[in-house]
Amino acid sequence: MEDLIYLDHAATTPVHAQVLEAMWPFFAQQYGNASASYPLAEQARAAADWAHAEIARQIGARPGEIVITSGGSESDNLAIKGVAFASRERGDHIITTQIEHHAVLRACQYLERSHGFRVTYLPVDHHGLVDLAALEQALDQRTMLVSVMLANNEVGTIQPVAEVAKLTRPRGIPLHCDAVQAIGQLPVDVATLGVDLLTISAHKCYGPKGVGALYVRRGTPLDPLIHGGHQERERRAGTENVAGMIGMARTLQLLEIPTAGAAPLARRFSAATLGVQALRDQLIAGVLRNVSGATLTGHPTERLANNASFCFRSVAGEAVLVALADHGIACSSGSACAAGEQEPSHVLTAMGIEAELAQTAVRFSLGLSNTPEQIDRVITLLAEVVGNLR
Ligand SMILES: *Cc1c(COP(=O)(O)O)cnc(C)c1O
Repeated sequence: MEDLIYLDHAATTPVHAQVLEAMWPFFAQQYGNASASYPLAEQARAAADWAHAEIARQIGARPGEIVITSGGSESDNLAIKGVAFASRERGDHIITTQIEHHAVLRACQYLERSHGFRVTYLPVDHHGLVDLAALEQALDQRTMLVSVMLANNEVGTIQPVAEVAKLTRPRGIPLHCDAVQAIGQLPVDVATLGVDLLTISAHKCYGPKGVGALYVRRGTPLDPLIHGGHQERERRAGTENVAGMIGMARTLQLLEIPTAGAAPLARRFSAATLGVQALRDQLIAGVLRNVSGATLTGHPTERLANNASFCFRSVAGEAVLVALADHGIACSSGSACAAGEQEPSHVLTAMGIEAELAQTAVRFSLGLSNTPEQIDRVITLLAEVVGNLR
């Protein structure tokens, strides 16, 4: 087997060496419980406070508005269920989209099924953009939460979240945004976006697995999901994962490359991201030129810098994955969470792509380790593999 060509960064990323280095001391040396009160614990407390402050700074929030969680799935669940359970008096209606991550969709379905909430799942257009008119129409007196992702994990489409906020903010309805795929690739500033809750996860952007954060704007109603100690200002019990949160703070720092003259918190679009975007464009152009029956899914321009997703007419996506894997290429048929499922992707289905074509989907998500030579090789192999399978 040839050397690995890793093109599944939307599923997870390797931990950056400097992130690992920053985390290391908190396992065996500064291992104190951040909630205890002796010097060893105070070191951990100081580190945890620094991590909250740094993560907050990176997204334009206050340190007290950051809840550290076990990852994107927990943050999404905390946002959806936490606001719903804390808002029963105010309402029983949630609005989200048909293309959210399953952590949002299944939390909503659970609230519908087991707790009597009503949920509207907004349609999207052929490019995966949410229908703002439908959103405005869906709002009612009893709507107490809206959740719209910033960038989709399967097709990379970027949603107009700030436009959504213009509908929710004047009505005082909390807006949650899943920014797991966007963080590190797009400017993510909670004030510019106008969101009240925002989900991030470290492992999608060169940080460790098992740690994420939920931004909760001051004053937003939120019940905890995990009861126990007083950690995270009573919003999430459990001994602090200091190494994890340091890792997340450090990875966000590394991804930040301020551009001169830009607004201090609204720019975050790093040189590394631009490099990845050039490779993505190389891949998209090469595939559309050289692989017969290939179509790009998602938005032509409003898409993540690292996402190139396609359908290959009449060729099963799973078969392409297997054939590419034989050549050391790691990619995905959509979302990692959907791997092995027989159902066509809910995202592609919502975009109006019929089931048969949706079964041919393959997603390439690029990252910092990729090179132009790798991309050329993938294009060549893909033309071969798809030709053979057809
Ligand atoms: C990966 C992902 C999640 C889940 O994050 P985990 O940290 O893996 O739990 C949530 N939302 C989106 C958009 C994702 O891509």
